[in-house]
Amino acid sequence: MSDCIFCNVVAGTIPAKVVARNAHALAFHDLNPQAPVHLLVVPTVHFDNAAATDSDAGQASVGHTMRLAVQAARESGLVDSGYRLVLNTGTDGGQSVGHLHVHVLGGRRMTWPPG
Ligand code: 5GP
Ligand code: ZN
Repeated sequence: MSDCIFCNVVAGTIPAKVVARNAHALAFHDLNPQAPVHLLVVPTVHFDNAAATDSDAGQASVGHTMRLAVQAARESGLVDSGYRLVLNTGTDGGQSVGHLHVHVLGGRRMTWPPG
């Protein structure tokens, strides 16, 4: 989708600090980090959010995206301390960019419940 921010990041038309990639997903630094480590991991194919992945292609994409999220967390040194993976979905979920993305947050202790 040409007007989608993260499709443009995947295409390279919007610059991003890429930290990892696989054949189906891309991991890069969040523009406005909320933790010492704050990465976004997106499928290279557009899905609006988790609610739009109820298909074989969608589930495969989620799997590849989660796999890269775990790899990026490991390569960011978060294995021992732990980290949080977040998929904001829809308005009440706090989703502001309409392309499925996993937040990888780490480097500080997270609280619960989230705000
Ligand atoms: P959401 O609120 O949809 O769960 O998360 C969207 C995230 O995308 C936010 O944390 C925001 O800082 C980040 N973001 C928005 N625009 C850009 C951008 O152009 N580049 C990068 N790297 N991150 C972005
Ligand atoms: Zn997109």
